[in-house]
Amino acid sequence: MSDAQATPGLQKYPHLFSPLDLGFTKIKNRALMGSMHTGLEEQEDGFERMAPYFAERAKGGVGLIITGGISPNMEGGAGAKLSTSEEADQHRLVTEAVHAADPDVKIVMQILHMGPLARNENAVAPSAVRSRIARNAPNELDAEGVEKQIADIVNCAERAKEAGYDGVEVIGSAGYLLSTFLVEKTNQRTDEWGGSYENRMRFPVQVMRRIREAVGPNFILIFRIAAMDMLQGGMSWDEVVQLAKKIEAVGTNIISTHFTWHEAAVPTIATMVPRAAFTRVTGRLRKELGIPTITSNRINMPDVAEQVLASGDADIVSMARPMLADADLVRKAAEGREDEINTCIACNQACLDHTFNGQEVSCLVNPRAGHETELNYFPTDDVKKIAVVGAGPAGLAYAEVAAKRGHKVTLFDAGSEIGGQFNLAKQIPGKEEFYETLRYFNRMIEKRGIELRLNTYATAEMLEQAGYDQVVVATGISPRVPNIEGIDHPKAASYIDVINGVKPVGKKVAIMGAGGIGFDVAEKIMHAGKSAALDIDIFAKEWGIDFENHPRGGVTGVEPVVAAADREVTLLQRKTTPVGRGLGKTTGWTHRIALSRRGVKMINGVEYLKIDDEGLHLRINDQYEILDVDTIIICAGQTPLRTLYDELVERGVTAELVGGAYEAMELDAKRAINQASYLAAAV
Ligand code: FAD
Ligand code: NAP
Ligand code: SF4
Repeated sequence: MSDAQATPGLQKYPHLFSPLDLGFTKIKNRALMGSMHTGLEEQEDGFERMAPYFAERAKGGVGLIITGGISPNMEGGAGAKLSTSEEADQHRLVTEAVHAADPDVKIVMQILHMGPLARNENAVAPSAVRSRIARNAPNELDAEGVEKQIADIVNCAERAKEAGYDGVEVIGSAGYLLSTFLVEKTNQRTDEWGGSYENRMRFPVQVMRRIREAVGPNFILIFRIAAMDMLQGGMSWDEVVQLAKKIEAVGTNIISTHFTWHEAAVPTIATMVPRAAFTRVTGRLRKELGIPTITSNRINMPDVAEQVLASGDADIVSMARPMLADADLVRKAAEGREDEINTCIACNQACLDHTFNGQEVSCLVNPRAGHETELNYFPTDDVKKIAVVGAGPAGLAYAEVAAKRGHKVTLFDAGSEIGGQFNLAKQIPGKEEFYETLRYFNRMIEKRGIELRLNTYATAEMLEQAGYDQVVVATGISPRVPNIEGIDHPKAASYIDVINGVKPVGKKVAIMGAGGIGFDVAEKIMHAGKSAALDIDIFAKEWGIDFENHPRGGVTGVEPVVAAADREVTLLQRKTTPVGRGLGKTTGWTHRIALSRRGVKMINGVEYLKIDDEGLHLRINDQYEILDVDTIIICAGQTPLRTLYDELVERGVTAELVGGAYEAMELDAKRAINQASYLAAAV
């Protein structure tokens, strides 16, 4: 059998699987695992855990790996620092594990100096300008301090080489130190490091020049540039090009494009962002340069990567979160098994939200990510006959893991398709990626030989008679029905009926409950036309982005234009905290902005009194009010659905609860899949 027959993906994705020759070294394909902080870097056993984490991804077929950011000194603030040979010894665990897994895979360490975003008192920057997202203003560097930062970054690169890395990436974007030299807002110096653009570029250019001098020619040097910083008054396109050319001229091998500063209020990686939305910007920069470019952001499947490469937008595609979701993504593509890829749905719930909450990083759809040493799906030598009732995320994950380990699994669902509440989530504009998770599980049901019984309401009697060794109850939740006068009034509607289009929604609407589902329902009923997540031009209009970089930063003066449905919607909650505070750390703000732009009113601190023909009666700040609305959508949380479990217990059948059936409070798919995976790994 020829190689091409054994690996059909090589023909299907010719650009993705062509090697990249850097002269002194070759990268075996164009798939890059982008830099992500894992939360392990600063832990005592962090390197012991990072070694298998990265090695698994190396075995999974990726050509180049970039580690999470490592600081060159204390001021850099990234949690972990590399400035001594002792620290380099620890890194060797990672580099040796990756090279042992596949000697052809290259691993590059990212040098991250956070500058004004460093969360410590030592934070430094060209000027003492506080970022919108930092607690304090940084300390202004004096001339000696500037030289020290450069020397420390160069030393860090040398230590990385000593640790066995194949190269370093220096982050020169996102509002971190190097980028703050480039922009007038954050660089107000009058010495040789500030003032003219020539002077403002000096710091990043010197950093790259001196690293090259120190590490010699045969070491990969990557510079991450803000090709579009999304700042009002940010960098002009000419400035971006000028910088990239200078960085190339001092011996950098690859330019990696980044598209925002963290303080910019434009989503760039959330699930509402269309796939590969930003690669066209890289494409324009690529035409100006003689060295390869990397593009990124919302590239989560091999066909998207291939298309980006084939169109000439980049030489390498970076997929960071997709490598958390599926360590074998690239190998599956090469072997023509794309339908087995567990796709990153860009939810940020277990990765970036964790990073920003100071927790270890993992993945909603793959809880093994970052936990390779503790969560393993070993084959069982005690095969059990298992019934899993409920094919929502919890039941699906349980069934998949148990069957993968060799158990004989039957999966029941009362519905006509698998997915449980994901079948509601996937209908929300901006959540189309949820279809991918259902595609993945459908394929796993087939591959693992799980017996699927849809349209089957499982009863305790039926399960008892079948004589299962193990019954797993993943029956999910019931929507909470608040105890309010008139809750049965025809104006009241359940969110399930609204999302499924079973209940018509009027022009004037109140949404009772502003949790994740209340926000999603508001998004659905206020949407007009095509989902922005499926159309880059609509997305650009909604968020005021000019992908041609005509104005500075790509956003200066570009007003967002939103198509909203002809409705008046009020989103209500009883708590007095700001509406939407409980949403995801890194995505909540995008939902709040999106709904505000559609004209949704948000009111907290309300007391619901009754529903009648006049509408919804409320007390707000001790004032009695009647919201004259046609429809009141109830999104008031959920309670566990345990009818089946209680019946099983009554019959003396031992059963295990998982997902919403176990606990509905603060339930989400992350917790459901995580809990189910751990339980099924142990059964
Ligand atoms: P469910 O998904 O509720 O599945 C239970 C299944 O059991 C159902 O399919 C039901 O038909 C079946 N069942 C019940 N009783 C029986 C029986 N006796 N016999 C056979 N079958 C039975 N979570 C996130 O993490 N991120 C999000 O962005 C997100 N967005 C959401 C958006 C919406 C609109 C909604 C509604 C939910 C969203 N969620 C999200 C929540 C997430 O979907 C739930 O936390 C998750 O589905 C819970 O999984 P589960 O398996 O426990 O239950
Ligand atoms: P939720 O986040 O718990 O919100 C429930 C809402 O109902 C709250 O606003 C709550 O606020 C209100 N409420 C609770 N009891 C009430 C009562 N008796 N009467 C009136 N209002 C009441 O739950 P959810 O919105 O149903 O979402 C379910 C789960 O799915 C959540 O855990 C969520 O994380 C997940 N989800 C996540 C996303 C996402 O994008 N990440 C999206 C959708 C869903 P007050 O008590 O202040 O009124
Ligand atoms: Fe992707 Fe969500 Fe997993 Fe993060 S948690 S890697 S965004 S699927």
